[in-house]
Amino acid sequence: MAHVQLKVVSNAQVLLVVDDRPENLEAMEALLDDGDWQLRCVDSGEAALQCLLEEDVGLVLLDVQMPFMDGFEVARLMRGNPLTRYTPIIFISAIAHTQDSVLKGYATGAVDFMLKPFDPSVLRHKIQALLERERNRSELLQLTQQLDTARAFNASVLDNAAEGIMVVGEDGRISFANPAMARMLECQVSDLQGKEMLSYLVTPHVVCEWRMSEFYRQWRRGETYRLHDAYLRTISGGEVPVALSCSPLPRLQHAMVIMALDMSVVRHLHRQLESQAITDSLTGLLNRRGFYQALESALSRIDRCGHRMAVLYLDLDGFKRINDSLGHDVGDLLLKRVGEQLKASLRSYDSLARIGGDEFTALLDSLDHPEDAARIAEKLIEQVSVRHTLDGIDVTLGASVGIACFPECGQSVETLLRAADMAMYEAKRAGRQQYRFFSPEMNGRARSRLMLEESLRSAIENDDFILVYQPQIHLESGRLRGFEALLRWQHRVAGTIAPGVFIPLLEETRLINRLGSWIFRAGVEQCRQMSRRYGNELVISLNVSPVQFGMPQLVDDLRWVLDEHQLTPQQLEVEVTESALMQNLETSQEQLRQLRQLGVKIAIDDFGTGYSSLAYLRHFELDTLKIDRLFISSMLESPRDAAVVSTIIDLGRHLGLEVIAEGVETMAQRDWLVQHDCAIMQGFLVAPGLSVEQAMAFPAQVDWHNLPLNEKPVG
Ligand code: C2E
Ligand code: CA
Ligand code: CA
Repeated sequence: MAHVQLKVVSNAQVLLVVDDRPENLEAMEALLDDGDWQLRCVDSGEAALQCLLEEDVGLVLLDVQMPFMDGFEVARLMRGNPLTRYTPIIFISAIAHTQDSVLKGYATGAVDFMLKPFDPSVLRHKIQALLERERNRSELLQLTQQLDTARAFNASVLDNAAEGIMVVGEDGRISFANPAMARMLECQVSDLQGKEMLSYLVTPHVVCEWRMSEFYRQWRRGETYRLHDAYLRTISGGEVPVALSCSPLPRLQHAMVIMALDMSVVRHLHRQLESQAITDSLTGLLNRRGFYQALESALSRIDRCGHRMAVLYLDLDGFKRINDSLGHDVGDLLLKRVGEQLKASLRSYDSLARIGGDEFTALLDSLDHPEDAARIAEKLIEQVSVRHTLDGIDVTLGASVGIACFPECGQSVETLLRAADMAMYEAKRAGRQQYRFFSPEMNGRARSRLMLEESLRSAIENDDFILVYQPQIHLESGRLRGFEALLRWQHRVAGTIAPGVFIPLLEETRLINRLGSWIFRAGVEQCRQMSRRYGNELVISLNVSPVQFGMPQLVDDLRWVLDEHQLTPQQLEVEVTESALMQNLETSQEQLRQLRQLGVKIAIDDFGTGYSSLAYLRHFELDTLKIDRLFISSMLESPRDAAVVSTIIDLGRHLGLEVIAEGVETMAQRDWLVQHDCAIMQGFLVAPGLSVEQAMAFPAQVDWHNLPLNEKPVG
């Protein structure tokens, strides 16, 4: 109960009664004690002022006649204090007042006069009414204060918000804008006041009037309208990317609030990411993806206007060598340099990309004639094929270029690029430093190449290869020296296929490495078996392609099979072509040194057709020279070729090398070779490549007048 009372007491307003006479105070107390208020009775003006300072008084009943400080004086002082300025006062007086004093009373702020004796119920009513009014007034005051605080709070929020905020009326005009909005549009808040909102909007482009715009329509529906990629125009004409959100304000406001988020930074980051995704970080050119995009958009444009264009595919010749020998840093530098040079030789609207290690592509837009593409290709090759100085080292590069024209060579990104790639490949085959236009035959060739490659792969898996053995004979004595192992592909449908058809492809696809180890094993194993019949002098020659010769593990592979089959290394001869040796002089020398150390013989195959540089004969330690078949076949008719053959024979004798004449088909050729002191021959005159069984049945010494198999093989 006490709790409830307290609550009532604390909520009730204070009614202050001031009278200097105790009996009057007592009477008032008796009269007013049970009202909806808290009664305070004091007996002087000073005590009244004291009470007014201490408590929140709702109404004062003030006796006019008091000693020292009369009621008027109290009222005057009350009005001078802001806290009590509006506190209502009822003057209570025993004497009738003159008009003057009543006026004076009102002037000091009285709201009423009561003359004694008065009707208590009238007084109570008045008190009630005045307290009620006072409560309303103070509530209103509080509300106003709260409103002021709220307004100040909102204003500071709006002022400090990072988002641009504006209020747009239903007429489309700006009625409010915060400082952030003004900053975004590079103007003052006041500049925006009353302006049409749409006049600041660049995108989406609104052609219609405000009431037809999406802003207005959504507002009418009471919905929030969001735009993620809008642009606003600043006062100076610049453009700011923004995300807009327009929400209706409460109906009565007839307005919407538009929030604008500055997206400059986000968009910038976005664009940066996008451009990173399509640029090659090393050269700053487009990357493969970027080039696809450029080509795609060019195709969609060109379709409409009927122009021609060309795709160039450029591959550096000799880059790998530089990269491997000088290191990747130098390689990177070189690629950058080449990128710059290529860029400089193109027109500004052509696109250039690096789409692979040392492969570049260019899109030549709007060409008049295909010949223009050829001219540009020539220029590019010329630009690249100069001496580059990197870190003080001079290097020379080359380039091969394939050209595919639109629309002749393809209509899509993929077909054009593939066509240009194929043409580039043709240019390389034709001997590098050239350009080639794509032609439909290339396409056919490429397709059959692809088919061949596939069937080669499955042939390897199915062991469809065999070795045949062609005898090598000492010319003088007719004694068997050994056999050259030659590879054959036994195709299920096409029959036996000669290596000339598929060895280049095996090389390109590096499948030769897989087949190579098998050849070594089969050859060495066969040699071991044949030695049982022919003795340990017998030599087996194995062909090693340029790719095989370049492999670091070649020597280890050979050592392993030699060990496995317990073959003396001298019984094995490795045939290498001049071009394989010339790929890289340093590594060749090292490879040959290791082969020698292993103890195998080394023969130069097809001697006379390649560089035939006498210099390398000095550098390399060799055992055998094999004179190419072409010289043998024409030496009887051509004195020049005869001269070449006899020179090689002499050279071999002076250098202490064995000389083998290849492709001997007639007795006349044999006789000529005998006359010119050639030691060894091989050729159809004696035998073509023989199966293992045939080879095992071959005589250890041939009778020149009764040759076993002296006819050319068919096919
Ligand atoms: P090559 O090393 O110069 O082999 C000699 C080629 O001449 C062989 O052709 C052989 O059949 C052929 N030939 C031999 N005597 C005569 C003749 O009297 N008249 C004519 N017209 N031709 C004769 P083949 O077997 O087709 O081999 C061609 C080339 O393929 C070889 O040339 C060699 O470079 C390569 N090759 C053959 N077998 C292998 C192998 O096992 N591994 C590697 N890497 N290459 C091989
Ligand atoms: Ca050979
Ligand atoms: Ca040869």
